[in-house]
Amino acid sequence: MGFFRLFIFGALIYLLYRLVKSALGSTKIIDQRRTNGVIDEMVQDPSCKTYIPRRDAQKRSVAGREYFFCSKECADKFQEEMKR
Ligand SMILES: [Zn+2]
Repeated sequence: MGFFRLFIFGALIYLLYRLVKSALGSTKIIDQRRTNGVIDEMVQDPSCKTYIPRRDAQKRSVAGREYFFCSKECADKFQEEMKR
């Protein structure tokens, strides 16, 4: 019975450790998500050829295709050029 109680105690300590670790590590999890390939994917602005993170980019549908721009100005410029 002694071993069983020790096992339960150990499991409780482990759970507590996990809980504290997840509470303290919450900011670290966000950092990991930021560096995740899908979220931090780089896209090229077809107007000024600059690479910007997809989540910061201005998404605009031009001539039936979706493009990403660094700014609204670039999006407007590109859209004007496509019209010509
Ligand atoms: Zn641009």
